[in-house]
Amino acid sequence: MSLPEKVCATCGRRFAWRARWSSNWDAVRHCSRACRGGPSALGRRCEAAILALLARDPGASICPSEAARAVRPEAWRPLLERVRQAARRLAHEGALEITQRGRAVDPCEVRGPIRLRLKRGPGA
Ligand SMILES: [Zn+2]
Repeated sequence: MSLPEKVCATCGRRFAWRARWSSNWDAVRHCSRACRGGPSALGRRCEAAILALLARDPGASICPSEAARAVRPEAWRPLLERVRQAARRLAHEGALEITQRGRAVDPCEVRGPIRLRLKRGPGA
């Protein structure tokens, strides 16, 4: 049998039960100390930038770098992981899909280059 899992509320990745959480697993929301504070204000700005870009052309997909540039044009590269985290959170909320080669992928497991698009309804 596999261990229970949750999705981290900050980084959007799956994490598994650990013995040290045995007394409070129901209350655990974050995978690590680094994630424990929840998404930062910058992380929230990345979410907003992604949604604003997707709203501009709802049929199109965007590259995470476009959102990073929208948030901080002068130093966007260090923001890329924040944007990817923001995208994973939004994907778990059902707001968007993370794609690779045009196909929606599991937000927790994806590695490598991704694109983001609004979630398509059934039959779309
Ligand atoms: Zn995390």
